[in-house]
Amino acid sequence: MESISVFDMLKIGVGPSSSHTLGPWRAGERWIKELKEAGKFDLVEGVTIHLYGSLSLTGIGHATDLASLLGLLGYDPVTIPVENIDPEINNIKTFNRLNLNGERSIDFDFDNDIVFNKKFLPFHPNGMKFMARLHNGKTISSTFYSIGGGFVVKEERKNAKKQLQKFKEFPFPIIKGTDLAGFCKQENKKISEIVYENEKSLRTEEEIDAGLKAIWDVMLESMYLGCHTEGILPGGLNVRRRAPDSHKKLIGDLEYNTPEEWIEVIRKTEVKFRSILKWVSCFALGVNEVNASLGRVVTAPTNGSAGVIPAVLMYYLTIENHDAGFEKIKQFLLVAGEIGSLFKKGATISAAMGGCQAEIGVSSSMAAGALTEVMGGSPEQVMMAAEIAMEHHLGLTCDPIAGLVQIPCIERNSMGAIKAINAAEMAMDADSIHAKVPLDKVIETMWETAKDMNSKYKETSEGGLAVRVSLSDC
Ligand code: SF4
Repeated sequence: MESISVFDMLKIGVGPSSSHTLGPWRAGERWIKELKEAGKFDLVEGVTIHLYGSLSLTGIGHATDLASLLGLLGYDPVTIPVENIDPEINNIKTFNRLNLNGERSIDFDFDNDIVFNKKFLPFHPNGMKFMARLHNGKTISSTFYSIGGGFVVKEERKNAKKQLQKFKEFPFPIIKGTDLAGFCKQENKKISEIVYENEKSLRTEEEIDAGLKAIWDVMLESMYLGCHTEGILPGGLNVRRRAPDSHKKLIGDLEYNTPEEWIEVIRKTEVKFRSILKWVSCFALGVNEVNASLGRVVTAPTNGSAGVIPAVLMYYLTIENHDAGFEKIKQFLLVAGEIGSLFKKGATISAAMGGCQAEIGVSSSMAAGALTEVMGGSPEQVMMAAEIAMEHHLGLTCDPIAGLVQIPCIERNSMGAIKAINAAEMAMDADSIHAKVPLDKVIETMWETAKDMNSKYKETSEGGLAVRVSLSDC
């Protein structure tokens, strides 16, 4: 069993997709490292990138081609200034040259050196192979799999042993929801406290706090940017950004200058059911409009579903608890991360494996559980909320139009956020002893459903809305 940290489930990155953008980006970086370790980096004269299966079928809409190149250029998705992305790609296209890891300029033909293969590799639907032509005439290659949420593996799983060792060193090794509930009971601790103890076996308290603060900062900035940026999203669907329109109506004449002041100002706005729905939707739409325009967001647990957790956390801060500060944010993120890891271990967070239930369903479940704990729910109620949120996403398909993470993805985040809030309220009002469906059972059910789902609904854009609605309809 692998050790999964909160920082594996919540990662700062660039949109629009964790499995199709962040993963291939990381794969590119890893391959460069491999070449260097093997002493081959200086021999490379040319590179070809082969994309397979879902990475090929929805790769252009998900910017897989661009992300792979940015990885090869040596950029880090956490730190790259997003405004540099277009110029870097344009340079490659114009000059047919690629500056490998920022060190060696080699030939690269954008139109022919990225190959889209419809074929699926047997190990995972998201396969990709980097091939290098060396100056001695030989070629070498390496195959990677982007398994969702920005995680990248190789078939031989070289890191598996290390991961198992780290898992064993956790004071509270958790595979299932029952393990988590058992530790909470045994230690008389909240879920966030148990998770915090595990995190401390990987990094210092200062590092954990700084990491969670950085994650929250990016979440807040992506909501703020999304709610204040007008225009049409890239990709050709002519999708108009809706968050700013909605935001203007909600905020009225209130004034603020920073994201932090924005929070204070929202706290002063009218609180009625309809306005709450609109605020939550607005936060979620904002993040996913930033994501769709290759902006910086937190993968939570994926990019397509990046808006759910910030929207629910922002709901808590601006509507539910005006006194809440960083301690509550930290608690929320720790619980959300742990619930996400239960799905990663017991099912999948990859839409190419399980459809949208693996993205929006999981993010809604993470948010529901986290909200329940910060509102004072018991560990059992947290798990009940997480279960309810997933139960009502089971079977949700992934069918993005034109392979872009826009329709249905952006709206779907607001739906996932609202469902999470409702699931938390239902769990808070219930006695978990009467819950009929344990969290572990819904995770198992999700995985069974994923395996039964037709591949045309698993991030291939070969079914559903993707074939019913065409670019000309937009
Ligand atoms: S439909 Fe859902 S799973 Fe598919 S790309 Fe959109 S958000 Fe991701």
